[in-house]
Amino acid sequence: MKRVFVTRRALPGDGLRRLDGVAQVVAWNQDRPPSRAELIASARDADALICMASERIDADILDTCTRLRVVANLGVGYNNLDLGALTQRSIPAGNTPGVLAETTADHAWALILAACRRVAEADRLVRSGKWRSFEFDLLLGQDVHGATLGIVGYGAIGQAVAKRARGFGMRVLHHSRQPRSDEFSTWASLLELVSNSDIITIHVPLTEETRNLISQREFEAMKRTAVLVNTARGPVVDQTVLVAALRERRIFAAGLDVYETEPIPDGDPILDLDNCVLSPHIGSGSAQTRAKMVDLAVANVMAGLEGKRLPYCINPEVYV
Ligand code: NAP
Repeated sequence: MKRVFVTRRALPGDGLRRLDGVAQVVAWNQDRPPSRAELIASARDADALICMASERIDADILDTCTRLRVVANLGVGYNNLDLGALTQRSIPAGNTPGVLAETTADHAWALILAACRRVAEADRLVRSGKWRSFEFDLLLGQDVHGATLGIVGYGAIGQAVAKRARGFGMRVLHHSRQPRSDEFSTWASLLELVSNSDIITIHVPLTEETRNLISQREFEAMKRTAVLVNTARGPVVDQTVLVAALRERRIFAAGLDVYETEPIPDGDPILDLDNCVLSPHIGSGSAQTRAKMVDLAVANVMAGLEGKRLPYCINPEVYV
């Protein structure tokens, strides 16, 4: 029987059950993700791999796990996969598009609202027992309604974020390589966008082109009242420059779901900043959406094991 290795002990929903009778599913047996060596040892005999953003799948792994016929990545971003190495070995890889944009847009909005209105700081204050009286100037934030929202990356998630902005009566700008506007948003150059926006939210994939896309020049152009939200990938924003901008109050606040290094290392300066709301890479993390993502990954695995074209293939060159 074919063997499928899953890099987590359990996955939401019952999607994996569809593999019953089709393949032997071996799930990682610890509460933490496998180290690289553990991943190699566990996937060595696998015909299919279900993995996610935290696992780098490159030539070294593929040269050891020579039985692999399909790699199913749980997520829409796939910067953790060396697609060239996969294609070179004729291994199709799949992702899980079309099911997580709305949920990730919801989370971007959670961070927008939390960062603008200082919700995490307020929660910490109340719990500390130091809230003593109604103060007129306590934890003053920035208005969201009526503000200008700048969306960097206007694909599935960026567009879902823009639609929600209508309810807040916002002016919406976006930046992408294709300079196209629509009824929800107006295209702008990156510099125009960062200079004119009150809230900037990042939704580009991590590629060589987008690494450090938001860096010194962009931070210098931002308003002092600007709020930056990143639910895309950490390295799209230069985190060292971001930390300095937050510490020196050159921007108002940030809301982050993704980081240069995940999980955030102990002692990282970002952990000391009050004006930064942090979440642990849970952008697509609703129970419903994570179960749908498992369903799509399983569909990719089933097709791959049967030698059929993956329904959500990210390296279709393997089929030419
Ligand atoms: P998508 O539909 O492919 O949209 C990506 C957008 O980025 C497009 O508008 C694209 O437009 C633009 N873009 C690409 N390269 C660019 C560049 N160099 N400069 C400017 N714009 C560029 O992707 P999506 O589904 O919205 O997802 C976006 C990313 O969010 C994913 O790749 C993933 O890394 C991340 N994500 C994170 C979570 C989480 O849990 N935090 C969840 C889901 C997704 P053009 O081609 O016109 O440039």
